[in-house]
Amino acid sequence: MSAGTVQDRRLELARRLAAVRERINAACADAGRDPGEVTLVVVTKFFPASDVLLLHDLGVRAIGENKDQEAGPKVGQVREALPPGSDLEVHFVGRLQSNKARHVAGYADVVHSLDRRKLLDGLDAGALDRGRPLGVLIQVSLDGDTSRGGALPEQVPDLGAAVAQRAGLVLKGVMAVAPLGADPDVAFASLRRVATDLQALHPTADWVSAGMSGDLEAAVRHGATHLRVGTAILGSRPSLL
Ligand SMILES: *Cc1c(COP(=O)(O)O)cnc(C)c1O
Repeated sequence: MSAGTVQDRRLELARRLAAVRERINAACADAGRDPGEVTLVVVTKFFPASDVLLLHDLGVRAIGENKDQEAGPKVGQVREALPPGSDLEVHFVGRLQSNKARHVAGYADVVHSLDRRKLLDGLDAGALDRGRPLGVLIQVSLDGDTSRGGALPEQVPDLGAAVAQRAGLVLKGVMAVAPLGADPDVAFASLRRVATDLQALHPTADWVSAGMSGDLEAAVRHGATHLRVGTAILGSRPSLL
């Protein structure tokens, strides 16, 4: 890439990032919430390490990835390029295969997509290998269709208890994707009920990861603490990658 191209990309990302921050501020103002309670996780899947570095330079401190195959090498490149001790939290938001769990726990700081017990051994072992606790969110399926990931709401208490027993894992809260075609306000209101029930059992599990490019306002209305935004900041994902 020529220097001009990098500069153009930086400006584009800066402009889109500012627009999303404005949407978040406006949604918080409407909901009577402090924008400081809402963390923006920029989902950089399909986009190169160079974009992650530009975003870090623009003040982004949390990125999201959804495929181990892509994220592992990319996060390695990013960490090598950043000065030692740089602050960048890596959130794994994608569906997790049990044979990849240990590897993901080696570079992610938080996994948003725990939806079955089978993932626990790998995540715990990976966190213990690395010598740093791994934050875990339980992904909740809000339409009963668990084929697209997520545990049923009634499975959440058991999964929460199982996470809390693991030395390497810290239960942080819940995550959901609004079901296709559903009203995101209805979906995120039910996620909030699941979150409140879990938090009553585990007071530190106070994160609610909800809301993407298209529905972040609804998520803010229903108490989201973490928004996972990709397209609105990075642009359309390349189809061939
Ligand atoms: C890709 C992805 C996002 C970001 O979606 P956009 O619509 O691009 O903002 C959020 N959450 C998960 C789980 C994703 O896979």
